[in-house]
Amino acid sequence: MIQTKTIVGVAHGDGIGPEIMEAVLHILHKAGASIQAAPVRMGKQVYESGVSAGIDPSAWELLHQHPILLKAPVTTPQGGGYKSLNVTLRKSLSLFANVRPVRAFSPYVPTISPKMDLVIIRENEEDLYAGIEHQQTADVVQCLKLITRPGCEKIIRYAFEYTRAQGRKKLTCMTKDNIMKQTDGLFHQVFREIGAEYPEIEQDHMIIDIGAAYVAQRPEQFDVIVLPNLYGDIVSDIAAQVAGSVGLAGSANIGPRCAMFEAIHGSAPDIAGRGIANPSGLLQAACMMLQHIGQGDVAARISNAWLATLEDGIHTADIFRDGFSRAQVGTMAFANAVVDRLGESPQHLRKEVLTASAPIIIPPYQRAAVQKTLVGVDLFLDWVGEDPQALGQVISNLAGPEMQLKMITNRGVKVYPEGLKDTFCTDHWRCRFVSAKATVATEVKTYSPISYQQILDLCTSLHQAGFDIVKSEHLYEFDGVRGFSLGQGE
Ligand code: NAD
Repeated sequence: MIQTKTIVGVAHGDGIGPEIMEAVLHILHKAGASIQAAPVRMGKQVYESGVSAGIDPSAWELLHQHPILLKAPVTTPQGGGYKSLNVTLRKSLSLFANVRPVRAFSPYVPTISPKMDLVIIRENEEDLYAGIEHQQTADVVQCLKLITRPGCEKIIRYAFEYTRAQGRKKLTCMTKDNIMKQTDGLFHQVFREIGAEYPEIEQDHMIIDIGAAYVAQRPEQFDVIVLPNLYGDIVSDIAAQVAGSVGLAGSANIGPRCAMFEAIHGSAPDIAGRGIANPSGLLQAACMMLQHIGQGDVAARISNAWLATLEDGIHTADIFRDGFSRAQVGTMAFANAVVDRLGESPQHLRKEVLTASAPIIIPPYQRAAVQKTLVGVDLFLDWVGEDPQALGQVISNLAGPEMQLKMITNRGVKVYPEGLKDTFCTDHWRCRFVSAKATVATEVKTYSPISYQQILDLCTSLHQAGFDIVKSEHLYEFDGVRGFSLGQGE
């Protein structure tokens, strides 16, 4: 029976991209990977032809038909008007999971943590990367941090399934939910909920600051780590740096249908065209791709030959060390050295056993029915006065009999009632109004319901009195549970 080859979109990229891609495709071919490369145009030339995202329109059709992309790094042209090609690809193709294995190759690549062998799974679509930013007053700009339940469920389910499929033992979640109780709190809560379905996997949670410090100092204690987008971006670079192998790491961007695989480094224009770049990062990415498309055996053959090449001291200039390496070679000579060792295994480094992982299927999101109750509003005012007590008294009087001013904060610090004279204030005041009816004091501090018309009437009164409302946020309870952070002393 003739085996059909998997068609893979191949973007040769810019700078060192074409050189390392040629080397990687050569290794894949010699190792017997059952793939057929379909060239995809993306990068500098496409940007400069006037396509602001840097992706040729024909690429979308190809990726629709053949949803696997092996991508070499591209150069982002200097100057405004260009979009990030990677962010466009991730969002357009719903590549929600960024998977980055980081392993030490000591003593061949020096590192402080020779036993380090972890995988970072970063949420790839939401968080502060939604790019929703506004200037609201002369003093204040804001960026919206959006964390969604379906987004959390997808990435956390993926992380547990990945941990199980790879035979790994422990999954650590990192957030800052001691401060961001709603957004990071949701991520952590979903981690606990879904974690209950995976009792065989050891689970823990760390606050991101100490977690990142431990990744930097004793990364060998981690196995798999799952994080929201921004923390994942930072921690994955820390981990790669600590492994001493920024040039050796690959990453996978996984979606429900499409997947994109690339090295973590850029297009290295400083060494482009000289045939000296290290193709290892892209090769690691290609091995992840092979595993993803069910050719884990070929991936393992390549990985083990690559480890044997490292051990034999055949090194490209970036990792060459006098007295330690045996030969300094260029990109293609390195690729040939890997090809020569196909079928061999490393003698000292841990051998890779890459099984052909079954695709990870994420169940469709099921939105639960909830009772949503409007209980108040935060109105943000652009106000250049200095005395919050004066502001509080005026807007309290404007609230009418049905609403009451609960508090005013400036940059999240309560300044009314009973603020401190030392608190620095900007021109951006968050004024919380709730129903004037008595609040029912429960553990979750439930307020009485209000109507949207009451908010409109309140806004009208403030507007007519000359206040500049720059934003409003409604306060809701969901099934009786508060869906907003409390101000100090509330
Ligand atoms: P870079 O990763 O390209 O280079 C940083 C340093 O590492 C340079 O000294 C370079 O020579 C070296 N280096 C990188 N890869 C190497 C390899 N395989 N072998 C040997 N040495 C290697 O980062 P940069 O200089 O900040 O960025 C250059 C360009 O790449 C920019 O246009 C940037 O936007 C782009 N970039 C693209 C991607 C991507 O496509 N995923 C990622 C990062 C940066």
